[in-house]
Amino acid sequence: MSTTTHVSIPTTPHTTPRPRTVESVHGGGELHWVGDGFRVHTLVPSGGLRQERTSPFLLLDYHPPFAYPALDKGQRGVGWHPHRGFETVTLSFEGSVAHRDNAGHAGVIGPGDVQWMTAASGILHEEYHEPGFSRRGGTFHMLQLWVNLPRKDKMSPPGYQPITKEQIPVVPVQAGGAVTDDSKVRVIAGGYGEAKGPARTFTPITLLEVKVRAGERFELPLPSNHNALVLVTRGRVSADAEMVRGGELAVFANDGDSLSLRAEEDTHLVVLAGEPIREPIAHTGPFVMNNHREIIQAIYDFESGAFGEIPR
Ligand code: MN
Repeated sequence: MSTTTHVSIPTTPHTTPRPRTVESVHGGGELHWVGDGFRVHTLVPSGGLRQERTSPFLLLDYHPPFAYPALDKGQRGVGWHPHRGFETVTLSFEGSVAHRDNAGHAGVIGPGDVQWMTAASGILHEEYHEPGFSRRGGTFHMLQLWVNLPRKDKMSPPGYQPITKEQIPVVPVQAGGAVTDDSKVRVIAGGYGEAKGPARTFTPITLLEVKVRAGERFELPLPSNHNALVLVTRGRVSADAEMVRGGELAVFANDGDSLSLRAEEDTHLVVLAGEPIREPIAHTGPFVMNNHREIIQAIYDFESGAFGEIPR
C-alpha cells in the first residue's frame, strides 16, 4: 500500500501594486542666493518635513530657470569651501557649472550631465558658472542634492563620478512605448524597468529625470520602506488626490509599493527615492556627521589644514 503525499504548490499571489499617498507638498517660499551664482529654493529641509521621511537626502536646493545677463569679467558662483560626511549631487538641466576640488577632480557639468561628488572624509571645492556660459549669459536651471552617508562610510576617501549625458540610459515612460522629447525617463541611479543608472551609491538610491506627456501615466515600483520625493519643475501631475505643480516637491508616505503619477500637462519631474539611513544626524554648515563631537572634529580638521591644500 502506498501513500500519496499531496504537496500544495504555492502560487504567487496576484497582488496589484498599492500606490503611495502624498504626505505633503512643499514649494514656493523664499529664493535665496548660494554665493552669487545660484538662486535657489531649499525644498529639503522644509517646514514640517521630517528627516525620517527624506533620508538619505539631507538637502535639496532647486534652482528654477533664471536668465543671467552676460558677464564681462569675473565669475559667478561659490569659492573654495569644505564638505565632510556626505555626497553632493548636481544635475544641470540648462546652463553649465565648472567644478574643481582638491582631490584632483575638475570638470564642467553641462545640460543633461550629473556630477556625483563624494566628500566623505573631507574635500575642498569651488563651484562656478562655466566661464563661456558666464560671458554669453543665458538661462540656468539645475538642482543640487546632499546625500547622506552611513556612519561606516563617512570617513572613507573622497570620490568623484562625472556622469555625462551620453552615459545615462534613456528609456520609454511605458514599456514598449517610444522615447520622445516630451516622454522619456533618464535613469541616473537605481533602475527603471530593465535600465540601470550609472551612478554608484553607498545605499540604495533611485534618481530619475522624467518627462511625461499630458494624459500619460508614470508608474514606478518601489519598496515601501524606501522614501520617495518627486520634484516637479514644469507642468503638473496628479498623485493620489493631490496636484503637484511646477516648483513643488511632493513627499510620499511609506504606505504602498509604487509611485503612480498622471501628467495633467506636459511635465518635467525628478524622482528621488532611497532606503533611509536610520542614524542620528549632527549638521553644522558644510559638515554632516552623527554627533556633535564629530562636528567639532570636522571644524578642527578643517581649521588645522587636514582637508588639504587649495590647488593653485
Ligand atoms: Mn559645495
